Parts: sequence; C-alpha cells; structure tokens
Amino acid sequence: MKVLVINSGSSSIKYQLFDMSDKTVLAKGLLEQIGEAESRLTHRSLTRVGDSVEVTRKQPVTNHQVGFQLIGDVLNQSGAVGDSSELFGIGHRVVHGGEAFQTPALIDEKVVTAIRALIPLAPLHNPANLAGIEVALKFAPRVPQVAVFDTAFHQSVPPQAFRYALPNDLYHDHNVRRYGFHGTSHFYVAKQAAGYLKRALASLNLITLHLGNGASVTAIANGKSVDTSMGMTPLEGLIMGTRSGDIDPAIIFYLGRQTGLAPDEIESLLNKNSGLKGICGLNDMRAIAQSAAEGDASARLAIEMYCYRIKKYIGAYHAVLGDVDALVFTGGIGENAANIRLRSCEGLSCFGIEVDAKRNQLKSKTSGAIQSDRSRVKILVVPTDEELEIAVQTIAKIRSLS
Ligand code: ADP
Repeated sequence: MKVLVINSGSSSIKYQLFDMSDKTVLAKGLLEQIGEAESRLTHRSLTRVGDSVEVTRKQPVTNHQVGFQLIGDVLNQSGAVGDSSELFGIGHRVVHGGEAFQTPALIDEKVVTAIRALIPLAPLHNPANLAGIEVALKFAPRVPQVAVFDTAFHQSVPPQAFRYALPNDLYHDHNVRRYGFHGTSHFYVAKQAAGYLKRALASLNLITLHLGNGASVTAIANGKSVDTSMGMTPLEGLIMGTRSGDIDPAIIFYLGRQTGLAPDEIESLLNKNSGLKGICGLNDMRAIAQSAAEGDASARLAIEMYCYRIKKYIGAYHAVLGDVDALVFTGGIGENAANIRLRSCEGLSCFGIEVDAKRNQLKSKTSGAIQSDRSRVKILVVPTDEELEIAVQTIAKIRSLS
C-alpha cells in the first residue's frame, strides 16, 4: 500500500514514498531552487535489503508543475512507483489550518478554498503548500489526497492559553489568536513516548520539545495539547535558528521609529536574522557548539540563552500540567545535542527532572531514556518522523470515509 507524502515549499518540494504495509520508505527526495536558473533534484530509492540508489538531476525547473513532472519521472524510472494508480493516497503537509481544521481533511475544492482563505495567517507557507496540492491534483486526479495540518494537534488548547490579551474583535474579526505549529511532530513523538513507556497516551502528561531549525515546546495533558510555545505564527516562543522567539512587542515600534525600518523589514529581521544567528552570527547548532568550544563568547552566550529559554518553558509547562510523566526531546538538536539537553534541564531537580550525564550520551536512531535513577520525571529522546505521521494520518482519513 503506497502513500506519497509531499511537503511543498515556495522553492522546493520534499517527498517520501512509503509502503505502509510495513511502514518502509521506498524513495525520498528533495527538489530545490525551483524557479532559479538551475534547480537540483536529489532522489534516493531504497531497496528491501537496505541499499539505496541516489540520483541527482540538475536542470531548470520553472515552477511546481514542472517540478512534479520531474519527480514523477524519477519515481517511475527508479521503479518505485509505476503510475499514480498504484498510490493508495497522497498526503500533503499544510502549515496553517486555522480554526477550520482540527483533523486531516480529504482535499476537494472546498478544502482548497479554505486553505487559500488562511493565506493571510501564513503568507509564506500556505501558498507554497497549495501550489503542491494543485499540481498533485492535476497529475493524480483519481488518487485521494489528504491535507495534514501543523496546527491541528493544538486545536485542543483552551481559550485561556490560545487568546492574546488584545481587544476581543481582533480575535473575532481578524483571527488573532495562538495556533501553534509542529503539531504533527509533537503528536508523533507523544505517541512514540507512550509506546516506549508502555502507557496509553490518554493517560500521560508530557512536555514535548521539538528543537530543529524551528523550535517549539508543547504541554500535553492526558494526550492532548493544552499549550504550546509558537503563537499566531511560528515566530513566538523558543529561541530558534534565525527566529527571535518571545520578545517585548514594543521593540517593533521602537525599531520602526529609531531605524526607519518598514514593518516588512522588521518582520524579516525577526524571522531571518535573529535567534541564534542574531546572537552569534551562526544558526546551525553544530557550528555554534564548535565555535563555543573554541572559546567564542557570543556562541557561548547563544547557547546559554537558548537553554535558558527552554528551561523557562519547561518550568511554565510543569506549572500548567501539575504533574509531568515525561519530557520528550526531538528534532535535529533535541535528538543529537546532548549538551543542550543537559543544560536545558540543569537545576530542575526540584521539579523531579534530572538528566543522567552518561545515558545522555546515547546515540541511537530509536527512542531512549536519559533520566537519572533519582529523576521522578522520565526524560526521553525520540526521533521524530513527520512524513511517516502524515502517511499514517492520510491512510486513516481515507479509510474513515469508506
Ligand atoms: P528542520 O527544522 O529544518 O527539520 P532539523 O530538525 O534537521 O531541522 O534540525 C536542524 C538543527 O539540528 C541544526 O541546528 C543542526 O545543527 C542541529 N543538529 C543536527 N545534528 C546535530 C548534532 N549532532 N549536534 C548538534 N546539533 C545538531
């Protein structure tokens, strides 16, 4: 049973083809620099015995339609999929589902219109996601296609957590509220953590920390998201690679007055030139760790600030949840950066949170526990797999309709 998962960005298309009978990846790839003079497709087909064959194509790809054609050709030539009739379904990652989508949606004209209506809330992401959906519908009109939303898991967050203390009509007339993102990842790692702990997810209180280029933390009570650090947009919350996370909103007006920067320029500064990059000039945690180890003071400060912000959220969400069964680290940094995990939990033994320095060195592609024997709260490292979760939700949605 083959399911294709598509994550369509403004100048890129990421894809993974799964055989969902055993959840194996048959092929995956990334087409980058769509619309530039030369685009690049890196495709990998995986065989049952674990070998992989990599193909790279460099050629101009003017738009998503041409890109999809190229991906289809490569999937076909590599033998991963004959034609679209072999697909049980196609799952699309969609960043913003607003309040309209609490669960995945079978894509039809109404759903496309609703995703389009949400563009003002996600002007960078939803148009790119829609471009992928529209092209996929053209190429595979008979294959059921499902939109899986980054925001959906957080629709269980109650009003006291999702409302901003702003005039009421801004919420009612302009949809100004917190939505949260990375929901597919938070939900996936929460389920994996439940499996690891041999407990029902509905019985667990968790704090899940997705630390990648973007970063967010979610408070999960009895298996449901009850608060999360990203807000109306992914800019709020933790310090990220290039995003500031929480700041005093008055800084924006001050900057406008002092520097003459236009609102769009300030938005770009906060999204693309702030966070770790703003503090130390680097946004890749491996490079920052290296630089800090070589004695660079700004890289050290960036790490201090990064971990301090995480710690504040762990404390806050501990208060929200009352009782926490486990912290769950995931994402490129959460899964790999032992030092960040250790420092983010430092001084939290009063909350029953204590990392074991040796167990924390684990290097594993599967879930593992890193808490000390004294730690009341379990501390887990769980590799995320948003694509697999999209495939799982795609199948579940299609089946629920038959
Ligand atoms: P994205 O959000 O784009 O999916 P990832 O989840 O892959 O990103 O996370 C990327 C981040 O993970 C980068 O900052 C990268 O430096 C960091 N990272 C990956 N591997 C390691 C590692 N071994 N040690 C420290 N940081 C790592």
